[in-house]
Amino acid sequence: MTEIIAAVLHRSGDNQRPYAEHAPLSLRKLRLEPPRFGELLVRIDAAGLCHSDLSVVNGDRPRPMPMAIGHEATGIVEALGDPDDPGFAVGDRVVLAFLPACGECLRCRSSEPYMCSTGAAANGRGELLAGGCRLHDGDAPVNHHLGVSAFATHAVVDRRSAVKVDADLPPEIAALFGCAVLTGVGAVMNSAAVRPGEGVIIYGLGGVGLAALLGARASGATPILAIDPVAKKRALAEELGAIGAAPDEAEAAIARLFPRGADVVVEAAGKAAVLNAAYRSARRGGRVVTVGLPHPDEKLELPALSLVADGKTLMGSYMGSSSPARDIPRYVAMWKAGLLPVERLLGSIHRLDEINSLLDQLEDGNAVRMIMKPWG
Ligand SMILES: [Zn+2]
Ligand SMILES: [Zn+2]
Repeated sequence: MTEIIAAVLHRSGDNQRPYAEHAPLSLRKLRLEPPRFGELLVRIDAAGLCHSDLSVVNGDRPRPMPMAIGHEATGIVEALGDPDDPGFAVGDRVVLAFLPACGECLRCRSSEPYMCSTGAAANGRGELLAGGCRLHDGDAPVNHHLGVSAFATHAVVDRRSAVKVDADLPPEIAALFGCAVLTGVGAVMNSAAVRPGEGVIIYGLGGVGLAALLGARASGATPILAIDPVAKKRALAEELGAIGAAPDEAEAAIARLFPRGADVVVEAAGKAAVLNAAYRSARRGGRVVTVGLPHPDEKLELPALSLVADGKTLMGSYMGSSSPARDIPRYVAMWKAGLLPVERLLGSIHRLDEINSLLDQLEDGNAVRMIMKPWG
C-alpha cells in the first residue's frame, strides 16, 4: 500500500458556490493498493482541470461517490503489476487517457476504441478496467474518475489507460494531450476530417475549443472563426490564426466570412442553444461536430427537414474519435515539429490545494487550461 494525497469529492451536484469557500473537494490521505497485473503505479506530476471535472462537481455528469476526481494528467511510471510488461518500464513518462480501450469488445475490434463498451462500463462504475477500486479512505473504497483519478500524488491505472511519450516532454504540456488535445484536435482531424482550405467555425474557446482551433490550423483550414464571450480568449484565438468574434458579433462575422455557411462547425461550449446556432451556421452538406457536455436536461430543437434537404451531418464526438495509442504520439510529434503549439493552451500552474478556487475560475469561464502540480 502507498499512502497518497488525493482530491476527493463526496457529493455530485448540490455543491454550493463559491467552491473556494464551501470546498466540495477535500485533500485526503488515501491508501493506494499496489498495481495488479496489467496495471501501473504512476507518480502524477501534472494534471489539468477540465470542464468534465466540474461537471461531476456540479452534478451535470453524476458519478458514484465518493470519487477521487481528475482525468487529464501525466506522470512517471514507478511500479508495474507485470514486471515483464511489454510496453512500459519504470521511469517511463506516460500520458493518461480517460477511456481505457479493452482491445477485445466489438467496438475495439472495429477500430473504435473511443467507443469501448468495457471501458465505458468501468468508468461508469468508477472502477479500473479490471474491476474494483484500488483507492481506500480508511476501510471505505473510493471510486476512480474515468480510470485515472489524477488530482493526486499517485494513481494506479490500467496499462490501457496509459500512453508512453518522450521522457523529455515538459509535464505541464504533456498533461494537455490526455484530454484537451485528444478531444479537440481529434474532433477536427478524426471526427470532422477537415481538409485543407475548408472553412471552420468554433464555438467556445475552453481547452477543447482552443485545441480544436490548433487542429484546424494544422489541417490547413481557412478561414477559421472562433466565437467566445471572453475577450482574452478571443485575443488568444487571433494569435493562433483565427478570426475572433463575440457571440453578439457572430451573425455578422458568419455572413461576411461564410455567406453560404461553413464547411465544418465545432461546438465546444456545451449548450444546446449554441449547438443549434452551430447547426445553422454550417453550409449545405457541411459537418457539425459537437464535443460539449450540456446539462442532461437540455434538449436540442432543429428543423427536421434540414438534415435531409440541406444534407448536413450532425455528429457527436467522444474523445475526439481518437485512438489514444495512435493519436497521442502523433500529436506529440506534431507539437515537436511546431505544427501544433499546444503550449499556448496552458494558462496557469497551481498547487493541488488550490483546487476549489480553480473550480470557481473554471465555472466563471475566464481561465485558459489550469494545471496542478501535486509535487509543487
Ligand atoms: Zn476532460
Ligand atoms: Zn473495448
